[in-house]
Amino acid sequence: MKICIIGAGYVGLVTGCVLANIGNKVTVVEKNKEKLRMLKNNQMPFFEEGMDELLNGVKEKNMIEFESNLKEVKGIIDIYMISVGTPLNQEGIIDMTAFNSVIDEISSLSCNSGILVIKSTVPIGTSTLIEEYLNRGGKRWVTASNPEFLRQGSALKDTIEANRIIIGTNSNKVAKLLERLYRPLKRPILIVDRNTSEMIKYASNAFLATKISFANEISILCEKVGADIKMVVKGMAMDPRIGGDFLGAGIGYGGSCLSKDLSSLINTANKNNVEVAILKATETVNQRQRMLLPYRLKEIYGRLKGLTVALLGITFKPGTDDLRDAPSLDIIRYIIENGADVRVYDPQDRACKNVKNLFPEIYIAKDCYDALSGADAILLLTEWSEIKDINWKKARKLVNRRLILDGRNFLEIEDIEKYGFKYVGVGRGAYS
Ligand code: NAD
Repeated sequence: MKICIIGAGYVGLVTGCVLANIGNKVTVVEKNKEKLRMLKNNQMPFFEEGMDELLNGVKEKNMIEFESNLKEVKGIIDIYMISVGTPLNQEGIIDMTAFNSVIDEISSLSCNSGILVIKSTVPIGTSTLIEEYLNRGGKRWVTASNPEFLRQGSALKDTIEANRIIIGTNSNKVAKLLERLYRPLKRPILIVDRNTSEMIKYASNAFLATKISFANEISILCEKVGADIKMVVKGMAMDPRIGGDFLGAGIGYGGSCLSKDLSSLINTANKNNVEVAILKATETVNQRQRMLLPYRLKEIYGRLKGLTVALLGITFKPGTDDLRDAPSLDIIRYIIENGADVRVYDPQDRACKNVKNLFPEIYIAKDCYDALSGADAILLLTEWSEIKDINWKKARKLVNRRLILDGRNFLEIEDIEKYGFKYVGVGRGAYS
C-alpha cells in the first residue's frame, strides 16, 4: 500500500519505518526543517534503539521518503495517518493546534475522498468530528482511530511486537484494509467503534499512571510502618491478577503521555459532569512524589542554600533522550531556586544540551564521576545502566558528603552502605 504519515516524531517515524519494512511505500511529512534535513541525510532526529539501522535499511530499499508538505506527496495515497503531537497547553487542556492545521491541509488537498487514520492521542469524539468536518463540502473522507501504545525507549520493539492493535472504525471496508496493512506483524487486532478506540487509549494510560501512584502511596506508608516497598511489590506481583509492571515507587511518572492523557481524561469527565476521584488522586500523588527528593534533602540538611547537588539521569526514563515532562526538570528548578549548585550527568548528550538551555547555571558533567565531584548529595533520577554500574568505591572519594537519594529505588542498600554512604530510597523503611 502507499501510506502517507504526517509527523515524524516517536510515533510517526517508528510506525513509518516499520510499515515500510513490511512492504509498504511510505512518505513521511515533517514540517520541522532540521528534522527533515536529518532524515533526508539518513540521520535519526532522536534516540531510539534499533532505529538507525531500520531507517537506513528502508531508505536503501527506497521504501520511505520524506517531504516537508502534504502537497509535495506524489501518487495516489491509500491511507493517510496523522501522528503529530497533541501536548497540553498552559491551561492544562489538549493543544490541538498542530493537529487541526494538518486537518486543514488535508481538507485543502485536491482529492475528494480518502482514508485518514488518527494515531495521535486525541479527545474522545475527535475522529467522528473530523470526518464530518472533512466532508462538509460533499467530500467522502473516512476517518479511523488507531491509537498508539509504543513506549519510548522500546518504541521499535513495541511496534513490531505490539501487544494489541486497536482499530476504531464504523466502516467494514476500512477495518479490512487496516487489518490487511497490519497482518504481516501477526499481532492481536481488536476492531471497535471510534469513540471506544479513543477511550481505550486514555483508559490504558490512566490505568498505568494509577498503578504507579498506587505504589507510591503504599511506599509512603511503608516508610511509616518499617516495610520495604520493593519486596511488597515483589510479593504482590506473584499474584498474576496484579502483575509487577508499573508498580515502581519513586519520583513518579513523567514523559509526554501519562500526565497529559490523564489531564485530558479528567477534562472530559469535567465536561460531562462525572466525578473521577481515582484519576484526580493519581495526579495529586504524582505531584507529591515528584518533589519528594528535594524536600527530603532540605529536611536532612535544614537548607539547600550553599549545597552542591549531583543529579544522575535527567531523561524521564532510560533508553530515550526525551525530557518532556521529566520529573528532573521540576527537581532542578526547585534546587536552583533554593540556592544550591547543580551538577548533572545523563548518558544522552541531546538531553544534556536541552537541559542546559533551560537552566544555563547548571554544570553538565562529562561522566558520572565528574558529576559527583564535591557533591553534598547524589540524587538518582533515571535508572540508566551506566548509573547502575557506578563504582561506589571510587565515587566515595569524590564526594563531599556520602549521601544518596535514590528516586528510582534501583540500588541495593547493602551494596551502598558498605562504602559508607547513607542511602535514602522511597518506601524502604524510615529515611532519617
Ligand atoms: P513528537 O512531538 O515526537 O512528533 C510530532 C511531530 O509532528 C514533530 O516532529 C512535529 O514537527 C511534527 N508536526 C507537527 N505539525 C506538523 C505538520 N503540520 N506537518 C508535518 N509535521 C508536523 O510526538 P510523538 O511523541 O510522536 O507523539 C505523537 C502523538 O502520539 C501524540 O498525540 C502522542 O500523545 C501520541 N503518543 C505518543 C507516544 C510516545 O511515547 N511518544 C506513545 C503513544 C502515543
